[in-house]
Amino acid sequence: MTSVIRNDWTLEEIQAIYDQPLLELVFQAATVHRERHSAKEIQVCTLLSIKTGGCPEDCSYCGQAARYHTDIKVQALLPTETVIAHAQKAKDTGSTRFCMAAAWREVRDNKDFDRVIDMVKGVNDLGLEVCCTLGMLTEEQAVRLQEAGLYAYNHNLDTSEDYYKEIISTRKFDNRINTINNVRKAGITVCSGGIIGLGETHRDRISMLLTLATMPKHPESVPINALARVKGTPLEDNPKVDAWDMVRMIATARIVMPASTVRLTAGRIEMTESEQAWCFMAGANSIFTGERQTLLVTPNPGVTEDMQMLQNLGLEPKLSKKEVSSC
Ligand code: SF4
Repeated sequence: MTSVIRNDWTLEEIQAIYDQPLLELVFQAATVHRERHSAKEIQVCTLLSIKTGGCPEDCSYCGQAARYHTDIKVQALLPTETVIAHAQKAKDTGSTRFCMAAAWREVRDNKDFDRVIDMVKGVNDLGLEVCCTLGMLTEEQAVRLQEAGLYAYNHNLDTSEDYYKEIISTRKFDNRINTINNVRKAGITVCSGGIIGLGETHRDRISMLLTLATMPKHPESVPINALARVKGTPLEDNPKVDAWDMVRMIATARIVMPASTVRLTAGRIEMTESEQAWCFMAGANSIFTGERQTLLVTPNPGVTEDMQMLQNLGLEPKLSKKEVSSC
């Protein structure tokens, strides 16, 4: 088996994988993928923004930061019943994971957090894998979420440790690592990846993968995002990410973290079906889907288009672990 799980990768080793001729790289990644996963299965996840905009952080790529003038409308925390109704709909249209995102710097121990706990319980009761992304978390807060049935917590590294300060000044790379450690300690699975197209170098991309691949346990889920250029943010005029850069990044992530789910996430709307097919060939085995404008703060292809694409490529939505284990 070529896909050995290792946590002792070096920058040079990952660089050598990343720098291979593209078709060699994709072939190697596809081989690793087939050793660890069913290559015809794609996990379909739905993302719902449960609290939108007005965030005090200054992430340069994000239209939800209060300090940038974007078209995103601020929306307070959604009622629990609305969230559960969205989750039911997501389940009915083939999603097995439901991710709730709140534009907070950090979780506070207040009524809003109590409501999120209720949402987690409600979505868990529907039999979906529940994921949240709520900003920084203490270990105690992570334990509360775990006890409510939270399956995964998303907390992206975004970019390399060196480049981090160019993108975000209101928190540090180490804050991210602390939250990820708190999530792990609470027994919740980790979803952590990053974004390409922020103006980083190839070396930064490799360094970010190194941080993920040398964690004591690899994140179970690794989202690879292409920058979605939001008007009004400092990065609105960045060049569009080249699809081959996404393929290269996904393939490298697949090789260095063979057992993880690699998620093709933001920026997918700007990719053609053929470009997405290359990403699946390179080892991506999960997508976010959603109703175009209502669920997400940056547009994503619609549910029906996605299901059609999977059918065109001979792929099928993956059953959730819960469904598999209950058989
Ligand atoms: S913390 Fe999240 S919601 Fe807030 S500005 Fe950064 S990416 Fe946007």
